[in-house]
Amino acid sequence: MPETLLRADDLTVRYGPVTALNGISLHVDEGEVVALVGANGAGKSTLLKTLSGLIRPAGGSITFQGKDLARTAAHDIVKSGLVHVPEGRHVFPRFTLKENLLAGAFTNDFKSAGKRAEEIIAGTPILARRAGSTAGQLSGGEQQMLVIQRALMADPRMIMLDEPSMGLSPVLADEVLELVAQLSERGMTVLLVEQNALGALDIADRVYALATGEVLFEGRSDDLRANPQFADQFLGVV
Ligand code: ATP
Repeated sequence: MPETLLRADDLTVRYGPVTALNGISLHVDEGEVVALVGANGAGKSTLLKTLSGLIRPAGGSITFQGKDLARTAAHDIVKSGLVHVPEGRHVFPRFTLKENLLAGAFTNDFKSAGKRAEEIIAGTPILARRAGSTAGQLSGGEQQMLVIQRALMADPRMIMLDEPSMGLSPVLADEVLELVAQLSERGMTVLLVEQNALGALDIADRVYALATGEVLFEGRSDDLRANPQFADQFLGVV
């Protein structure tokens, strides 16, 4: 049996009078790709921010490798091996690609990080051909690749990606999902929020479908595809 890396139980999050998460429970096992799908406002981003320590839950518990996260500082959560790539491709626009990557290595030894950053750029064709650019000069797809690679500079055990294909052309969106699939093949554990639910299901082992802060469906990707009610609601297909 694979080890459960991340577990959240009965999480509740409120923004003033708005209940954004209403008793959410989920788990992610070592080596899995788990997709989180749901309409705008369902609570997906709030869930990732809560798991990474940016928002404190009003109730419930979170553990990562058995350690309590609900009261752990966000930078210590990164150090423990859980890294969050937020929505919106936040690069440092005036910095080079290498400098952007180094910003992700704040938990590590900087000497080896420089070499590692150069290897990542050389080994990622979409970045290698822009190696002399600043991050602000990159296209949206290139920036997305950069922020995912920056997250990997922290040597995480698990990565959480919020809408990595948002706003990209279908070809670039496929490239981003392909990168996620490659990370998984190399053993990375992934929690993936995607507006492109069908694309996410293609690479996910399991899926949680959220609506108004609650989990409505939990199961294998194939089971969501085969469920007439939820496939219609969450995938737009019957
Ligand atoms: P999207 O795909 O649009 O990002 P989402 O599923 O990620 O949607 P959240 O952004 O987590 O959903 O929002 C969940 C609920 O919390 C929504 O009702 C939203 O309006 C509300 N909400 C989110 N952020 C805030 C905030 N900073 N203050 C108040 N309400 C918020």
